[in-house]
Amino acid sequence: RVKAEGRNGWCFYRPEMDAQLQSRIEMEQDLKAALAGNQFQLYYQPLLNLDSGQVVSFEALLRWHHPTRSMVSPAEFIPLAEECGLIGQLGEWVLNEATRTAARWPQDWRVAVNISPLQFRHKSLVNLVKKALKASGLPPTRLELEITESVILEDETHNLAILNAIRALGVRIAMDDFGTGYSSLSYLRTFPFDKIKIDQSFVRDLPHDKNALSIVRAITDMAQSLNVLITAEGVETEAQMEALKALNCGEAQGYFIGRPAPVIDAYIQPMIRYGT
Ligand code: C2E
Ligand code: MG
Ligand code: MG
Ligand code: MG
Repeated sequence: RVKAEGRNGWCFYRPEMDAQLQSRIEMEQDLKAALAGNQFQLYYQPLLNLDSGQVVSFEALLRWHHPTRSMVSPAEFIPLAEECGLIGQLGEWVLNEATRTAARWPQDWRVAVNISPLQFRHKSLVNLVKKALKASGLPPTRLELEITESVILEDETHNLAILNAIRALGVRIAMDDFGTGYSSLSYLRTFPFDKIKIDQSFVRDLPHDKNALSIVRAITDMAQSLNVLITAEGVETEAQMEALKALNCGEAQGYFIGRPAPVIDAYIQPMIRYGT
């Protein structure tokens, strides 16, 4: 995937564009309308502490209720929003909405918010985080930001300074999709992540695949000695969850525990599913 540098650079029509590109342009226009038209919603997916059996936090996952295409996946529209310069506005909305919602939850669950690498470029992310916390009244310790290694890859000095400033507020920083990048390991040395999220591609083949088992064991062992929390993503079966427990993985997230949902459903469901 080619990442556009400039704002709006991809939004102009050129005659040689093919139908696919044309439909992308339409989607970009729809995205702009979506921001103005309240078509976005946050779903929340529970993270379960495997020692206590308690839900400890929820990850906010963005949903777009497109007027004619039904639901568009964030895997599709987040890259588009990044390319046409809308991710700043969209990310700001997510941060405000997630903190506002979490502040009203009946328990002090944390909320995890995904942050695009491009959100480190324009407006001050530190100020946006401060503003969201202040406006919502959510304690900083209940907010967690999920970033991928590309954040450090893109502009290490600049972005590390931002990450450190945010962490100094008491906000936790998690490395998302661990193991899928080029050098996930070296980033653990570069920045004191509070949490590592093992990518679902490693969890998928548990518990029978010996290699997957070894890799997950190596990651959990390493996390333990680094004193970093660990979440396994994409846990879809009880057998996977049991294997992760046996490997001393701290937290699990996935359809077996609870699907992303508007929060009322999301926090009732895992209580029922777990330990039955
Ligand atoms: P992610 O942060 O790694 O989120 C986990 C994804 O795995 C979510 O996909 C979630 O619905 C899905 N998932 C959870 N449990 C399972 C499971 O048991 N099995 C399988 N197969 N999948 C599971 P989703 O919601 O489609 O989001 C995709 C990606 O889009 C996210 O990956 C994240 O990178 C991005 N994204 C979502 N919301 C936001 C947002 O508000 N801002 C930004 N910048 N990115 C977002
Ligand atoms: Mg995430
Ligand atoms: Mg992930
Ligand atoms: Mg992912």
